[in-house]
Amino acid sequence: MKKRNGSESSPWVLLLFCLSMCAVLAAVMLAVGKMKTANNGNEADADGGTETETEAETVSKDVTGSGTQTGDPCVREGEFLLLVNRYSILPEDFSVSLADIGRGHKVDERIYGDTEAMLRDMRAAGLSPVVCSSYRTEEKQQKLYEAEVGGYLAKGYSRAEAEAEAAGWVAAPGTSEHQTGLALDIVDESYQLLDRGQEATPVQRWLSENAYKYGFILRYPNGKSELTGVNYEPWHYRYVGKEAAREIYDSGVCLEEYLGRAK
Ligand SMILES: [Zn+2]
Repeated sequence: MKKRNGSESSPWVLLLFCLSMCAVLAAVMLAVGKMKTANNGNEADADGGTETETEAETVSKDVTGSGTQTGDPCVREGEFLLLVNRYSILPEDFSVSLADIGRGHKVDERIYGDTEAMLRDMRAAGLSPVVCSSYRTEEKQQKLYEAEVGGYLAKGYSRAEAEAEAAGWVAAPGTSEHQTGLALDIVDESYQLLDRGQEATPVQRWLSENAYKYGFILRYPNGKSELTGVNYEPWHYRYVGKEAAREIYDSGVCLEEYLGRAK
């Protein structure tokens, strides 16, 4: 009987043991579950933190120093991100303080240091860059534009067609980056035609690889004309500040895309 009783009681012991093990297991699983939730929470925080950091970075990009060689710690990166194109016209009261870079050419005085450094380093590398266009007044832009339109009119285009064609090469007054003092047309002394052949010159090859280090971007890249509204111009470089220039160079976007203003 004892033996039987013993054998009768053992299932109860086993059951109790199982129940207690289940309770322990449940407690452990609950604890793990809580930890997991906590971890997820941390991940969410981390993501949020990263986003916040990204936002902070984006904001700081607009408000911190640009690292230009102007020596002015108050210069803000965002100040060089002015968008000027056929949809984004310069305000009528736009004004700029200019600095002379020689041979009758002028740029926004805030980019003088970087412009000079870039041209100096190119010459030191044995190249012969020639600045063929820089700051332009509204009047000068008007004359260039009218001359371009006139060329198409002479070919039999209607006024509207001529203006549309001309705008691909010479921006209408108020829509040219050259009026900002932030743009330069640079060609190679050995080849000064403003055509696609320019891209193969030593000067353009150097610029396409190095201009961003000085805060300049190739403003009208090949394949982006639909977005920029301007035909491919391997010679037209635009100052945007070193940080933005590096990001644009790395990502291969045009300024309209970079600013989220592509039409
Ligand atoms: Zn230009």
